[in-house]
Amino acid sequence: MSSPYLVPVAQLLRDVPSTLLVSFEAPFDESHEFAPRGAAETDVFPEATVKVKLRLESFSGGLRAKGHVEAPWHGTCRRCSTPVLGISNVAVDERFVDERGPGDEEAYLIEGDFVDLAPLVHDAIFLDLPLAPLCREDCRGLCPYCGIDRNEATCECQAPVDPRWATLDGLRFTGAEPGESNEV
Ligand SMILES: [Zn+2]
Ligand SMILES: [Zn+2]
Repeated sequence: MSSPYLVPVAQLLRDVPSTLLVSFEAPFDESHEFAPRGAAETDVFPEATVKVKLRLESFSGGLRAKGHVEAPWHGTCRRCSTPVLGISNVAVDERFVDERGPGDEEAYLIEGDFVDLAPLVHDAIFLDLPLAPLCREDCRGLCPYCGIDRNEATCECQAPVDPRWATLDGLRFTGAEPGESNEV
């Protein structure tokens, strides 16, 4: 079975300059060739559908790939730890070359008569993934004292008071309520 990520480019490279529009949808990582990330990190499921729309333009010794790639990601809200889903839509402008010369460190390699778009798509998507997503902009997070989800419930927890002021509060309290245990 041939992968849509593998694009034949022999004719493009022969007729310089010429262009080829590449547009397809495919699983993000069909053959599971890319290592999964840590459980806490934002990631893309291997079977998630990626949309690829690129324009390949040949120049002497290589190709320029320009367009957009889009993939759905999943992660964890940094404040309340609930699952978060999102979509990365990334602008791409990269080069494929026959062999890397000076200044080509970032370029991908043409493999025979083909370019493999999979590494390019993965790099573009992973660079765009949010490191610490939020389930919503105004997520109220978890109470640091009892752990309750403040988006769903409220609790009576209060931040611990500075001990110097705590003493003062106690004095005021007894002073304001005479007649209880003080006068027995
Ligand atoms: Zn949240
Ligand atoms: Zn609480």
